[in-house]
Amino acid sequence: MLDAVLAARGGAPLSSDPVEFAHRYKKREDIEAAAFVAASFAFGAVPQIRSFLERLFAVLSPSPHGVLTASRPVPASRTATLRHRFISPEGVHRFLLAIRSAYRDHGTLERLYLSGMRAGDARGNMARFLSSFREGWGEALSRERNFLFPDPSLGSACKRHHLFLRWMVRSADGVDLGAWRSVSPSGLIVPVDTHMARLAGCIGLTRRTSADWRTAEEITAAFRTVCPDDPVRYDYALTRIGIMGDCTARRPGFCSACPLDPICERRRTATSGK
Ligand code: SF4
Repeated sequence: MLDAVLAARGGAPLSSDPVEFAHRYKKREDIEAAAFVAASFAFGAVPQIRSFLERLFAVLSPSPHGVLTASRPVPASRTATLRHRFISPEGVHRFLLAIRSAYRDHGTLERLYLSGMRAGDARGNMARFLSSFREGWGEALSRERNFLFPDPSLGSACKRHHLFLRWMVRSADGVDLGAWRSVSPSGLIVPVDTHMARLAGCIGLTRRTSADWRTAEEITAAFRTVCPDDPVRYDYALTRIGIMGDCTARRPGFCSACPLDPICERRRTATSGK
């Protein structure tokens, strides 16, 4: 059944997803840098995200990796008008400096991730990866820092960073980019936000309602029973249903157009009036 969802929504236009920015580049190092930047700011409404990223990538033109690793950092004046929701221009600038620091210390973000990778410890792996960026950021603007580089040990689902890993690790399929060669897709965790948490609840993959780390693990475990080598393969197709507003679970009569209709417990419960 999930393969039917993949067939129905897996070809949804990339313009609905910030991964489109990473698809603009040809070199592996630019793809990695662009994907990390785009995933990090993938919060808020799609038009708002795209508008902000267009302006940020103009600063990083023509090569995000080249600009981030140049001998001189991007001056603060270049980000002085860049604000995304509650992330201030100074926060955007510190974010760029934190990535620069990671590149200078490790050469690539893949190497940084591998340096902290332990088998079977997805949460620890993510914690070690993101703590490097927090160190590069420093203590100023800690609220913005902790949002852009969350700590999974505090319960965060780290949705945007699992999204980045999905883009990097899964083989190129028109959406994901397959830019990393040393990490197996079998260990990936589903990027969980409110859309995924709700849809996963609809089809009985979790009873939890909060979009946190435990929910992400629970949904991933359910996907793993279907596809152990690639548990996040359904993520893009499923989240399109939520992101494109096709399911609010509050609009009776709409479900017949939804590919989840045959297996949706919420739909069945609503229909039976329970
Ligand atoms: S069947 Fe209806 S309630 Fe269930 S996911 Fe689809 S649109 Fe939402």
